[in-house]
Amino acid sequence: MFANLAASIKQFTVSESVNFQKLISRTLALTCIGGMYLLLPLLPLLTTILFWRVKYVVQYGQTIKKMLIHIKALNEGPVSHYFQDVIGKVSSIPVQIQGSCTQCGNCCMDKRCVFLEAAEEGKYQCGIYHSPLRRISNCGSFPLNAQDIKRYSCPGYVVVQEVPIHWVKKTPN
Ligand code: SF4
Repeated sequence: MFANLAASIKQFTVSESVNFQKLISRTLALTCIGGMYLLLPLLPLLTTILFWRVKYVVQYGQTIKKMLIHIKALNEGPVSHYFQDVIGKVSSIPVQIQGSCTQCGNCCMDKRCVFLEAAEEGKYQCGIYHSPLRRISNCGSFPLNAQDIKRYSCPGYVVVQEVPIHWVKKTPN
């Protein structure tokens, strides 16, 4: 009976902690999204300074239009994912991932990222790939786990199940 009670309390505590983490992540995400909308008129200039690319401010109107699409896409989950999973690299399922990028643009918020640029033969490339900021973002961690691959239907990477190693004693010839 006490064992059952202890297990119930433990389960309740874990689920409460998970709910609290989700609440904090969502609050931080909403703060970021709100901040981006407030700073919208300045974002072309800020991105030009941050990523050292003059085109964002030169093409001001186009950058604002793309930025609105970008922020909407961010609000659909990537910012929460960042605070919940990417910071601290909390991966729900320990997996090994193999493959390489085919530059399809799916993981760039389904091609809605403001920094995504068309490359040759229907491929895409990141316009801020050179930036250290990109490396500490969702983009730098992709794919983090199986859910990440599924979320964007990534054709380049696959989860490889971990195979336990069995030691076999070598028999003398
Ligand atoms: S979804 Fe996969 S293959 Fe496509 S750009 Fe992203 S990492 Fe590359």
